[in-house]
Amino acid sequence: MTASYAIAPPAVASLAIQGQPERFPLRRVFCVGRNYAEHAREMGHDPDREPPFFFSKPADAVVPAEGTVPYPPLTSDLHHEIELLVAIGKGGADIPAAQALEHVWGYGVGVDLTRRDLQAAAKKQGRPWDGAKGFDASGPSAPLVPASKIGHPSKGRIWLSVNGQERQAGDLGDLIWPVADVIAYLSQSVRLEPGDLIFTGTPAGVGPVQPGDEIHGGVEGVAELHFRLGAKP
Ligand code: MN
Repeated sequence: MTASYAIAPPAVASLAIQGQPERFPLRRVFCVGRNYAEHAREMGHDPDREPPFFFSKPADAVVPAEGTVPYPPLTSDLHHEIELLVAIGKGGADIPAAQALEHVWGYGVGVDLTRRDLQAAAKKQGRPWDGAKGFDASGPSAPLVPASKIGHPSKGRIWLSVNGQERQAGDLGDLIWPVADVIAYLSQSVRLEPGDLIFTGTPAGVGPVQPGDEIHGGVEGVAELHFRLGAKP
């Protein structure tokens, strides 16, 4: 039986796929906190003693990283976080790390835009991060690339520059919890489903961006992105 809805159902959030017309439908977006040791240290934490933790963004916060991405309201300290994205193609719960990569459909590159001032206030007051991390257009991302084309990258430079100046640089080999471990941990907490997308964490060098800034970033062997930030609302 086909369901009928009281209002028009929302559009399916999705991301483009490099070199093909089909899009990747997005179900949920999970993000790993502090997954590179140098970044954990710059945020004031000991990277050696913490298992991975997760927060989320709405699926429709993922927008194309092209043209102009809006500068969000309610912040004067918007930060860039360049991240490797993992797109889940096969669901599962309690996935063993040794089988985790079989659940990956593909990879991508995105920016976990963060209202750092709101995050600092939330941390101080013991409140959720949603307002700091899950605002509209908070996850500008490049088109995804299928694992069938590029395999499963475990090494490769991850970088971000602002107005031509390099701000973040790291290597996928420096992930504290590599992709397989991230999937294993996350699938202990929730059953992963096709369409889920994971932001795997950011290397050191996060910092503020201003309206009008040009942001370039990429992961070697996966994809690159380029967009400009819009005017202050
Ligand atoms: Mn992040």
